[in-house]
Amino acid sequence: MPEKYVATDPAVVAGLDNYKNLPAVQQPTWLDQVELERVKAELSILPPLVFAGEVDTLRSRLADAAAGKAFLMQGGDCAETFVDATADRIRNRVKTLLQMALVLTYGSSMPVIKMGRMAGQMAKPRSSNDETRDGVTLPAYRGDAVNGYEFTAESRAHDPQRLLKAYHTSASTLNLVRAFTTGGFADLRSVHEWNKGFADNPANARYESLAGEIDRAIKFMAACGADFNELRTTEFYVSHEGLLFDYERPLTRIDSRTGLPYDTSGHFIWIGERTRQLDHAHIDFMSKIRNPIGVKLGPNTQPDDVRELIERLDPNREPGRLTFITRMGAGKIREAMPKLVEAVKGTGSNPLWITDPMHGNGITTSNGYKSRRFDDVMDEVRGFFEVHRAAGTVPGGIHIELTGDDVAECLGGSEQINEAELENRYESLCDPRLNHMQSLELAFLVAEELGNAKK
Ligand code: PEP
Ligand code: MN
Repeated sequence: MPEKYVATDPAVVAGLDNYKNLPAVQQPTWLDQVELERVKAELSILPPLVFAGEVDTLRSRLADAAAGKAFLMQGGDCAETFVDATADRIRNRVKTLLQMALVLTYGSSMPVIKMGRMAGQMAKPRSSNDETRDGVTLPAYRGDAVNGYEFTAESRAHDPQRLLKAYHTSASTLNLVRAFTTGGFADLRSVHEWNKGFADNPANARYESLAGEIDRAIKFMAACGADFNELRTTEFYVSHEGLLFDYERPLTRIDSRTGLPYDTSGHFIWIGERTRQLDHAHIDFMSKIRNPIGVKLGPNTQPDDVRELIERLDPNREPGRLTFITRMGAGKIREAMPKLVEAVKGTGSNPLWITDPMHGNGITTSNGYKSRRFDDVMDEVRGFFEVHRAAGTVPGGIHIELTGDDVAECLGGSEQINEAELENRYESLCDPRLNHMQSLELAFLVAEELGNAKK
């Protein structure tokens, strides 16, 4: 192994590997351990996907959001798949995120931090280890980084080679994302371009009209002699749930500048609702890396959990270090959240609060689809803003499952997607995503809320 990738300080090494002494849930049961060791050795010498300096910049951006001076827009698939890592699909997702960010920037007059659930979001926690179909029971699908979706024993076996494929798919996805966001595509003078190729609908029309206003403002500024270098490119960060130690640990490297460990698999890593047990491996491992860390908080979270998470993940009270991603459900957020935002006061930590209005609002439709009602999603977002307004705390961002494609997975929206429609245009292998139009509609709602918050 090249020297520079190896942690040599024994204390750092011991700290990073301490998670191995703790219980870890939701881990694969790889069949071939020899193969697994080979894969991990290979991963540990492959180039980093992101760089420590970028991670540090993101941390300072998130600190701005926690202080009410920026807003985080995080979105993407529930689970990325190998076959869908195509140029068209990646471009549509990036375009959708850029459009949403534009609506938010314009509505709030604040910088919007753009972040994909992309280039690494390929491992899923599951409520059950198995799935039964027609009397046949096989291991549950755990994301393309672990096994295949196809319902055969061969495909559902946990195959370590998939970790390498996840790495290479993430690398090519990130390469394209970087090209799109720095190579001219994200130029603010192309705001109309981002809307092209999407079907006509009310949200797109509203977007077009906003893009027209921005165009006029840019032409006015250009006529006044302004320099637009800043408009040409945009920062774009990638994030995923840090679930698999066999992926995250080999990609964790010691930065030669600071001597500290960074998980180079993505800029921002979050811990899921199912793996945030205080004395378990995920919290311990994430506490040792320098990346900004998110933690999902469901409706049963208690004030003491929040305080303990702060002690473990933000012991130095570092701005931008910790993000709480609340996913309470529309019917619960107004009850469940106030005591949590109060619990943080007086700890000295200033975590970023963002809302995930997706994961607390799951339903099963009468025709058997996993779905979410767009109205519930909107209502949870409103509840999130209400709670923060009442508490005097900062609503700092939004975390969404979305796709740029014209799918029908969530019910409602101005296109009024109904249950029957799900049978034609449901593509997600995991959770239902907002489609392009629903995503834009949501962005307009959040922009209004942000505008109100400023008044
Ligand atoms: C997810 O983000 O896809 C997820 C599984 O969320 P949670 O941990 O909040 O259930
Ligand atoms: Mn999900």
